[in-house]
Amino acid sequence: MVKDQQPKGRPFVSIFFDCCKVYNRIYKNKAGTHYVGWCPRCSRKISLKIGPGGTDDRMFFAR
Ligand SMILES: [Zn+2]
Repeated sequence: MVKDQQPKGRPFVSIFFDCCKVYNRIYKNKAGTHYVGWCPRCSRKISLKIGPGGTDDRMFFAR
């Protein structure tokens, strides 16, 4: 049985970069207010604000 790894203490979400059609993981920042990361191909920066109730979504799209 194969499961996705769920590392504890370093929350991340999977994100699809529409610019380069690639997936990557982005991690929560120190303050816990955003998920931040970069496109692995063109280094475009992305930041996702984390709402007051947090988010249960594990997949996002960057356009
Ligand atoms: Zn890109």
